[in-house]
Amino acid sequence: MTVKKLLVAGAGQMGAGIVQVSAIAGLDVVMIDVADEFIARGMAGIEKGLGRLVDKGRMEAAARDAALARITTSTDMAAGADADLFIEAAPEVMDIKEDLFARASVTLRADAIIATNTSSLSVTRLAAFVTNPARFVGIHFFNPVPVMALVEVVKGIETGDETLTAARAFAEAVGKTPITVMDSPGFVVNRILFPMINEAARAFAEGVASAADIDTGMKLGTNWPMGPLALADLVGLDTTKAVLETFERELSDAKYRPAEILGELVAAGKLGRKSGAGFFDYAK
Ligand code: NAD
Repeated sequence: MTVKKLLVAGAGQMGAGIVQVSAIAGLDVVMIDVADEFIARGMAGIEKGLGRLVDKGRMEAAARDAALARITTSTDMAAGADADLFIEAAPEVMDIKEDLFARASVTLRADAIIATNTSSLSVTRLAAFVTNPARFVGIHFFNPVPVMALVEVVKGIETGDETLTAARAFAEAVGKTPITVMDSPGFVVNRILFPMINEAARAFAEGVASAADIDTGMKLGTNWPMGPLALADLVGLDTTKAVLETFERELSDAKYRPAEILGELVAAGKLGRKSGAGFFDYAK
């Protein structure tokens, strides 16, 4: 099946980004959220993003207007009942997702694909909330969606081959490069990224080098655009610690245990950029 019409639940950071790239790619998109104020905030972000492309000369004003005209919004899922693909980008809360998938199962056509953008919940477990798990798949975009080129297409135990193929084709149609990943904590990118951040934190705590030198080392030595400790500060040290704890628990392996320095900084209220300090000081 070729996806021509998309329904996105959640007008937040990720949902609005997915709507933006899909509308640019020529898909009809319905964006839903629980209240008009959240929809207005999501639409304002999309208009700003498209406006920036026009300002930079990377998009014609007419193309921006056409993309915006392809987006409709609602607080009612029924507005997207004829969509070929439903992507859930609601908060990372199992109960919210369960409710959305149960409703999508009966609102959309029986052959429509139902997908989640979850970062950390099991795709196989979420698939249990739809009537036919063969049509359920993970479509994991990266933040910020308009900038990041990767999509992890996540295969749950029961995801059908046709669903997987259609999800990959959709990712390509909206300008992304898909990789296929089996359902597993952190999928590919976060599974590899977070232990690297953890190792950088350990090296810092052992006094191997200063935070600035560790980050300079990784930037210049491996071409990372940003050092691992600055990245941890951006993600949030509380989130970084929580992700590592999930890996340790779900993968039953102590090698993922968060570096003690992460717990110490979090206990001291140093959560990274959002609190003004983490491995680095952002007060200035
Ligand atoms: P967000 O908080 O920015 O946005 C969530 C939106 O969902 C909000 O606008 C909220 O009002 C809305 N919402 C709540 N309940 C809803 C419902 N029942 N129906 C429709 N909308 C509802 O969150 P986000 O950062 O966009 O994350 C969304 C999902 O994407 C999460 O599963 C998250 O794990 C995943 N994700 C996030 C990132 C990231 O870096 N932020 C990256 C990849 C994946």
